[in-house]
Amino acid sequence: MESFDLIIIGAGPGGYEAAAEAASHGLKTALIESRELGGTCLNRGCIPTKTILHTADLYAEIKAQGDAIGLTGSEGAGFDMTKIQERKEEVLAQLRDGIAAMMKADKVAVYTGHGVIADKNHVKVVSADGTEVIECKNILIATGSVPSVPPIPGADLPGVMNSDDLLSNKKPLKSLIIIGGGVIGMEFASIYCSLGCKVTVVEALNRILANMDKEISQNLKMIAKKKDVDIHTSAMVSKIEQGGEGLICRYTEKDKECEVSAEAILVAVGRRAYTEGLFDDETSADVKAMAMERGKITVDGSFQTSVPGIYAIGDVIGGIQLAHAATAEGRRAVAAIGGFTPTVDMSAVPGCVYTSPEIGSIGITADEAKEQGMSVITRKYPMSANGKSVLSMQERGFIKIVADADSHKVLGAQMMCARATDMISQFSQAIVSGLTLEDMAKTIYPHPTFSEGIGEAVK
Ligand code: FAD
Ligand code: NAD
Repeated sequence: MESFDLIIIGAGPGGYEAAAEAASHGLKTALIESRELGGTCLNRGCIPTKTILHTADLYAEIKAQGDAIGLTGSEGAGFDMTKIQERKEEVLAQLRDGIAAMMKADKVAVYTGHGVIADKNHVKVVSADGTEVIECKNILIATGSVPSVPPIPGADLPGVMNSDDLLSNKKPLKSLIIIGGGVIGMEFASIYCSLGCKVTVVEALNRILANMDKEISQNLKMIAKKKDVDIHTSAMVSKIEQGGEGLICRYTEKDKECEVSAEAILVAVGRRAYTEGLFDDETSADVKAMAMERGKITVDGSFQTSVPGIYAIGDVIGGIQLAHAATAEGRRAVAAIGGFTPTVDMSAVPGCVYTSPEIGSIGITADEAKEQGMSVITRKYPMSANGKSVLSMQERGFIKIVADADSHKVLGAQMMCARATDMISQFSQAIVSGLTLEDMAKTIYPHPTFSEGIGEAVK
């Protein structure tokens, strides 16, 4: 029987990055994956959405600005969904090969099959070729999440899709209803609206992107409206039926019965932790009794579960469901397993939304500071005054910063502008390093760049 220091179940950004980290510290490591290397992020999440978004954004930009910026032929620009899908598959294959090469270089033993925990020192790898049992000192569960299915009558009708389905869609859509105005909903709204599809978003809460700063939600709603995206908030879906353009979505908006029809419906109402088949009838009683809360595995500050020696990270533990959070948690768990000093600071996790304009957010918002009775100061800079934004014809945008009123230490930032998803890292570094507004203002920001907006905001 092969024996390892650590067996990791699930090769998403949590699992494969933890495997590389463990191997780099000399731990003999095995990685078990039942599907493709890279997990949701690479195969059904971050990378495929942003690959399609790249084409959609370029197309929309050429259509919207072509004439004004001196491009000819922009009116005749078109797109080919089959080619878009082919390009997406090329990108995924290239990055999957990269992970496989990295695992090989790091001497991580990769097993293809479903991981079933037998007891805290044994994991079964179940595949079409049979079952192999491998032995270990520690186990790390990184089995991720899958789309939630809401109990809406008609949610199983043909044409009603989740994000996995829509990412593989090869048909241009004339109209699309999106149930859920969260991150997935708004990124797909951006993609399909850019591709000339009539998009309607139906969100149960009183604003889209409810986890973000209020001004971001309001601005994105306004920009979406200008692009003919209909957004209905405080709207509860009651039923989906066949009819109209293909499907009819019935919902109640502020006590009024409403309906909207479209060719297809995307359901994007959150993702649930995935633990199916992780245990079987033969799994030891102590492991089967592992503490869980509403399907999510419960962990302590070191990401250890209630079973000593078994750790869990990423989407399967709930909390912040982001690829870079899963990776950071994996590094923390490996440090605890190997007895090393953790090298990653978990105090500030950036959140990015790849809409147009992009959104970047980190740390505390001014509203949250107020609710918590904190004494803070805020800075805001409108990107309409930024040269690079003007010359590249960007939508209205802004950078907001929250800092401690006494020390001026940066506590949070919210940005809605071009390249916000790249620039937010400057604020991550500021928060983690305890920088003040004045420290950030010392830096020379190159001209003309979007990042000059940061220099202006911190002044
Ligand atoms: P996953 O990536 O879900 O990987 C888990 C892996 O475990 C899967 O490959 C699965 O097959 C495998 N597995 C499960 N059970 C077993 C088993 N018993 N045996 C063997 N293998 C098993 N996050 C961002 O940070 N940025 C983004 O831009 C972004 N965009 C997204 C877009 C979409 C449409 C979606 C759906 C998600 C997006 N996310 C994004 C979220 C991100 O994909 C997840 O937070 C991240 O993938 C979680 O990583 P993980 O390692 O915990 O799990
Ligand atoms: P989400 O939690 O962000 O949004 C779901 C939305 O659906 C919420 O606003 C919720 O109020 C709404 N909703 C729930 N039930 C509803 C109903 N019956 N009718 C109408 N609205 C309803 O979840 P998501 O958008 O599915 O994304 C899942 C996870 O994936 C997120 O937690 C996010 O972290 C991750 N993700 C991240 C990125 C990124 O980082 N750029 C991109 C996509 C996904």
